[in-house]
Amino acid sequence: MEIDAGKQIGELGERALLRHLRARIPSGEGVLVGVGDDAAAIATGPLTLITTDALVEDTHFKLEWTPPRLLGRKALSINISDLAAMGGVPRQAVVSLCLRPELTLQFLDALYDGLLERAAEAGLSIVGGNLASTSGPIVVDVTVLGLGDELLRRKGARPGDRIVVTGALGAAAAGLRLLAEGARLDADGALTGTGLWTESSRIPVEHCLRAQLDPAPPWVLGRALAEQKLAHAAMDLSDGLSGDLLSLCEDSEVAALVDPSALPIDAHAASLTRARGGDSLGLALHGGEDYQLLLAVAPGAVPQVAELASMWEIALADVGEFVAGQAGVALRGKDGVRPLRPRAYDHFLSKSGKGMTPAP
Ligand SMILES: [Mg+2]
Repeated sequence: MEIDAGKQIGELGERALLRHLRARIPSGEGVLVGVGDDAAAIATGPLTLITTDALVEDTHFKLEWTPPRLLGRKALSINISDLAAMGGVPRQAVVSLCLRPELTLQFLDALYDGLLERAAEAGLSIVGGNLASTSGPIVVDVTVLGLGDELLRRKGARPGDRIVVTGALGAAAAGLRLLAEGARLDADGALTGTGLWTESSRIPVEHCLRAQLDPAPPWVLGRALAEQKLAHAAMDLSDGLSGDLLSLCEDSEVAALVDPSALPIDAHAASLTRARGGDSLGLALHGGEDYQLLLAVAPGAVPQVAELASMWEIALADVGEFVAGQAGVALRGKDGVRPLRPRAYDHFLSKSGKGMTPAP
């Protein structure tokens, strides 16, 4: 039965909504019982990896900034990123939604468009979840399960290992700032407004908004690195390099010396930051949500890691080395070594959204 997409979900009721969603969600490999029963049943491998992460309205996203389709994609992507950073292959997900009754079916369907698309891209199946009504913030809470045998842990980095980072850094944090300045994407990820920026900045603005609203973690690489035992330690970069690298150092009981000139600062984020007289190095060091991989790699294995990454066109940067010593991060530049204090990455400093973490 076709339901009017403009109907509020509160009017439709839970049974009709669940029936509607069940009809949309395909089954998949390893799924014995999927959506619809009291619990899902899945076949698992030698190890089952589990991770969970929620996106909460006004803490992690603002509704007026975020097309629901992209919200669905991101909710899955951030969990896939965590799972891949452990060397796992994502296989199943459960999705728990807290929604206000006045939201429309169109909203729910767009959210699921994003979830289902991203699930198909990553080869995972949505096998269950929950739908709850709330008068408070929207919550998109996703748990992803995956298969693993060899694991990549945060502990394991050794003195002498190279600090290796995939992709580029800073675009997601730049994108958050652009959202606060009024720039917007539509549900297809196309630019609909440049906010405070002129039309001539369309390309960098769109690029940074996409990095923030629709991150693309290099998830295939984690598993390959684990299988081939090419990394001693790994984690994904969600809170910003300065804080995440310190976490890895603490777990591995080593110190890190970062060469600031080697950091892969996102070129579009850098050009926008330069245009406003800002410091793009700070954006790359402290900006969060890049969902790239941070790795500890033996010096001799770096070329193999680079070759593997190049198969998926994933960029790789050797940004420094782990050394013996108390857990800590320092920058090693032309003018000597200075400690780098992690700066906590706040999604929004104020509820108004005006005070996002500034690029220092
Ligand atoms: Mg993580």
